[in-house]
Amino acid sequence: MKVYIWNPSLECLSRDLLEKLQLQRLKEIVYKLYNNSKYYRQKMKEKNITPEDIKTLQDITKLPFTTKEDLRELYPYSMSVVPIESLAEIRASSGTTGKPTISLYTHRDIENWSEVMARSLVATGIVKGDILAIAYNYHMFTGGFGFHYGALRVGVVAIPIGVGYTQRTVMLLKDLGVTALTSVPNYALRLAEVAYEMGIDPAKDTKVRKGVFGAAPWSEEMRKRIEKVWDMQAYDMYGLSELWGPGVAIECIYKQGLHVWEDHFVVEVVDPKTGEPIDIEEKGELVFTTLTKDAIPLIRYRTRDISRILDIKQCECRRTHRKIDRIQGRTDDMFIINGVNIWPKTIEDVLLKEPLLAPFYQIVIDRVDALDRLTIYVESKTKLSDNEKSLLARRLEYQLREAILVTPKVEIADPGTLPRFDGKPKVVIDRRGQV
Ligand SMILES: [Zn+2]
Repeated sequence: MKVYIWNPSLECLSRDLLEKLQLQRLKEIVYKLYNNSKYYRQKMKEKNITPEDIKTLQDITKLPFTTKEDLRELYPYSMSVVPIESLAEIRASSGTTGKPTISLYTHRDIENWSEVMARSLVATGIVKGDILAIAYNYHMFTGGFGFHYGALRVGVVAIPIGVGYTQRTVMLLKDLGVTALTSVPNYALRLAEVAYEMGIDPAKDTKVRKGVFGAAPWSEEMRKRIEKVWDMQAYDMYGLSELWGPGVAIECIYKQGLHVWEDHFVVEVVDPKTGEPIDIEEKGELVFTTLTKDAIPLIRYRTRDISRILDIKQCECRRTHRKIDRIQGRTDDMFIINGVNIWPKTIEDVLLKEPLLAPFYQIVIDRVDALDRLTIYVESKTKLSDNEKSLLARRLEYQLREAILVTPKVEIADPGTLPRFDGKPKVVIDRRGQV
């Protein structure tokens, strides 16, 4: 396979020059935040440091962390260091605990985001001449637009196909001669399943041979299935809405880790419990400092995603940017259903508002026909008739859908039938395994 590189002068920059560039940008961003952000100035004062204390890249560990809670607390505009009138776009995270986190973009942010997305697409061999179907949500979520901007930058034909209307999507993939697909990973399998039902063999009857998948951790087994059924090369992409969106890191064609675009981000791995730095190759929580983000620069943002920095000097693709392993999971109990982040607490909030229910419930996640299915078992306080159970379950399904953006199946259990726990209850049972 041929190696394509969008911006060789930066993607293949020597480590020495790349780290000099990182340090210079780090100093600038720390200086900017110290002088323009009340929040960061306060945090740095608490740690008794000033911008002058940042003399080497290693000094980054002296800086304070930023957490998702900080972003929520400063909702919606207080993290911004630019005036509202200089913004180009506003987006919101798919997280569902109360208020979302807000992503703000200036025109410069859109420029830089387009650049990292262009590099990422080209790294997977998606280049001018390709037709890319973007099967991500374009509604507030960062996925759809990130790919769209990258495609426009590269000169790839972009099809904002979105999600849902699966049969129509299959038809368009075939009829329009689409060559590349991006979506959440399990949706690629769902599309293939529907294609078969329509008498279309994705491997033989379509031209889709490249795919980029992300927004949810996915396994090697799932990659194998996607590649086989579509006869495609499937690549992993990493990103998060707090860092523009997708495009923070990408697998190159060698599929051995994801290159982090280090002229835009400094990546660290820390112990999720203590926050102490962890050695290269050791697993821990990914932490990113943004070097070029304009509206909301972030220092040492704790992602809660578990991975490791790989000890590889230079990749076969010639890129010098360091690689991280594929994401193993999250540091806390959040789970993801078909690409949507869900917190057990949000479900609990809905259930416990219902006076007919006892405070005992279980959340069971299965994978059926390549899609995640969420079933919630909850006990009623008193024994209900089948009809009463059914009415109550439908009402809860509606309320839950409003809260978590996913429709679960609710089963009302009789009093005293669900397990009790002395310690921390195990309320989430994930049966999806490795596939
Ligand atoms: Zn590479």
